[in-house]
Amino acid sequence: MTKHTRSGRLQQIPPYLFAEISKKIEHARKKGVDVISLGIGDPDMPTPKYIIAELERAANDPKNHQYPDYEGMLSFREAVAAWYKKRHNVALDPVSEVLALIGSKEGSLHLSLAFVNPGDYTLVPNPCYTPYRTSTVLANGQVYDLPLLEANSFLPQLDKIPKDVVKKAKILYLSYPNNPTTAVAEKDFYKEVIDFTKDHTLIVCSDNPYSEIAFDGYRPLSFLEVPGAKDVGVEFNSLSKPYNMTGWRIGMAVGNPEIISAMATVKNNVDSGVFNAVQYAAITALLKTPDSRIDQLNSVYQKRRDLVYDTLTGVGIRAIRPKATFYMWCKVPNGHTSAGFATLMLDKAGVVVTPGAAYGSYGEGYFRISLTVPDSRLAEAMDRIKKALKK
Ligand SMILES: *Cc1c(COP(=O)(O)O)cnc(C)c1O
Repeated sequence: MTKHTRSGRLQQIPPYLFAEISKKIEHARKKGVDVISLGIGDPDMPTPKYIIAELERAANDPKNHQYPDYEGMLSFREAVAAWYKKRHNVALDPVSEVLALIGSKEGSLHLSLAFVNPGDYTLVPNPCYTPYRTSTVLANGQVYDLPLLEANSFLPQLDKIPKDVVKKAKILYLSYPNNPTTAVAEKDFYKEVIDFTKDHTLIVCSDNPYSEIAFDGYRPLSFLEVPGAKDVGVEFNSLSKPYNMTGWRIGMAVGNPEIISAMATVKNNVDSGVFNAVQYAAITALLKTPDSRIDQLNSVYQKRRDLVYDTLTGVGIRAIRPKATFYMWCKVPNGHTSAGFATLMLDKAGVVVTPGAAYGSYGEGYFRISLTVPDSRLAEAMDRIKKALKK
């Protein structure tokens, strides 16, 4: 018996996926294994120096030492609007259609708390990035799973959702380029989404942190590029991935002003915004980063992608060659579960891969590799996997 019983909400939250993996890694390391983790998507390269310099400048200005505006500085929101205009030709009103987030991860919770009543459904892809699911649970909502099947290019089949579920559904989560499946979505799919949601009060939430991480000249879309999108939804984006800024905690929600305003009301009552100096640095990242720098970053990931693809294919593992994201989504060899295969890789190769089932039941049969480790470590990991699977 424990004295402080957790709320029913919290009891429904499974252990954080990476917490489990961290424990396994720690255990192996204690035994002296030089573990290489391909488990977590967290850029290994540093934040560019000109962005750090701007943080330093802004941190030295006492004006920035006081509470920030909870919705973000107007100049940050203007920079986001300018970036969306330049990159996606999407027009946004910086005042009513842009909200600063402490990393885009927190956006799902704000959205759920703002719109989900107890018992309401959210429509959540399976497999998926876990916060869509857990934020629903924290708002006492119910998750309705949308299977992402390879046969359907990992896009959900909206016409398969029962009518009574759609009626009680508040949010439809989408995220392309997709983590973990690496799938991408094109305009036709988004048009279908907008048609589907038009007759309902459903909010579309497009989580798009990999919009800049793409290969072979591919340019991922913003959901908001599609006519009618702003009537039905919002998009989350983040400085984390394109500028190697995961530790800085800055992202944004953009789109429908009613939804943005409701999220801002939640935020206003939970936190007090992003440190202004971080926002100044983010403005610099968004407005001063030359395209060539993003191209360079992507060419590093692309080389790593090709190495992993060739290695895995060479030992008979079917890997999907991604157009975008810094992940590889691969088929577990016959006769293994995804968790069993991940354990085998750790035991036999000292390499951490993420079991697909950790992202939802439809991830079973797959594993995910992250390309965010230095080239030499990735090469070493591939050598070890080759040896382990040849035996
Ligand atoms: C990395 C990632 C994010 C970004 O999270 P931040 O909180 O902005 O660092 C959001 N969604 C998905 C699917 C991700 O993989």
